[in-house]
Amino acid sequence: MKYLEEFQNPELARRLLDDIRATVTRPWALMEVCGGQTHTIIRHGIDQLLPDEVELIHGPGCPVCVTPLEVIDKALEIASRPEVLFCSFGDMLRVPGTDRDLFRVRAEGGDVRVVYSPLDALRLAQQNPGREVVFFGIGFETTAPPNAMTVYQAKKLGIRNFSMLVSHVRVPPAIEAIMRSPDCRVQGFLAAGHVCSVMGVGEYPELAERHRVPIVVTGFEPLDILEGVRRAVRQLECGAHTVENAYPRAVRPEGNPAAQAMLADVFEVTDRAWRGIGVIPDSGWRLSERYREFDAEQRFAVGGIQTREPAACRAGEVLQGLLKPHECEAFGTTCTPRTPLGATMVSSEGACAAYYLYRRLDLPQVRIAAPAGVEASSVV
Ligand code: SF4
Repeated sequence: MKYLEEFQNPELARRLLDDIRATVTRPWALMEVCGGQTHTIIRHGIDQLLPDEVELIHGPGCPVCVTPLEVIDKALEIASRPEVLFCSFGDMLRVPGTDRDLFRVRAEGGDVRVVYSPLDALRLAQQNPGREVVFFGIGFETTAPPNAMTVYQAKKLGIRNFSMLVSHVRVPPAIEAIMRSPDCRVQGFLAAGHVCSVMGVGEYPELAERHRVPIVVTGFEPLDILEGVRRAVRQLECGAHTVENAYPRAVRPEGNPAAQAMLADVFEVTDRAWRGIGVIPDSGWRLSERYREFDAEQRFAVGGIQTREPAACRAGEVLQGLLKPHECEAFGTTCTPRTPLGATMVSSEGACAAYYLYRRLDLPQVRIAAPAGVEASSVV
């Protein structure tokens, strides 16, 4: 399959690994920003195939994981109301709030529906004029444009029984916050390619310069990840810190101007709390004044929410790259995908879910024979 199998070619992977091994002379720590990249890395054992000098640190780029507990609890409260038809992508349904999740709300009689597009929710609003239809709009720069377009359409078509619970986040302020942390070990970034396909690369040169870190825009297939690592290591070894686009088949330098215009019209930048991390200045979007009538938080006046994170969950440290999932004491014992304590265990892009799904269950590392065609490396 074009653009898929050709980016999983073992022979090309071996060549990229050889190049990285030939280049690296000392330890480097790189952060892959996106949870989709984390899943590719863990699924294909890329971190184990890399030379010991190259460490991959998993970043906060999982939209479900960083949605604040307060917003989850607001979603649960809104979805419980009898007049509400609450629409969400499927991966939000198992995300634990303070004392329940959306599945529980549905089991208790709430009308919670899984949709595949925000426009499906808008259609439900048209089909159910007597109901209040709410869409749970979360995510990074990738999901924000279609959500913005849906609110734009709702206004244009005069659909008043539609609203959106918005919790959008932006990547560049998160990179800034990570680099400013006193515990930061990150020396280079694999930026999220799909985010850059929307926003372009213009936000990154200043970050790379200010923090003297290479930022390589990277895709999501195994060869994409290896090429991103190869370019970042090359820069680090020669003391460079520039922005490179290693995902040109999807990313243009200017991004998608039409999507950016839609975002600028419907949303405005705001401070946003990230679950387990805290408030990051200018790291989110909310509906702009022109579209505020579609804000579900205002329409349903969900205030006074008291949240309570499970004390055992260390997802905040996982999301900042300070802890590997299987270093959490609850991992695989009291916290599993069936009994999640944190969102990182249930999201399809969560690091804890990746470690559980691909059986990275134990801390000790042993050296075993690698599959044919791939050079030996450290594997669990
Ligand atoms: S393993 Fe579970 S408890 Fe531990 S950080 Fe991950 S989600 Fe939280």
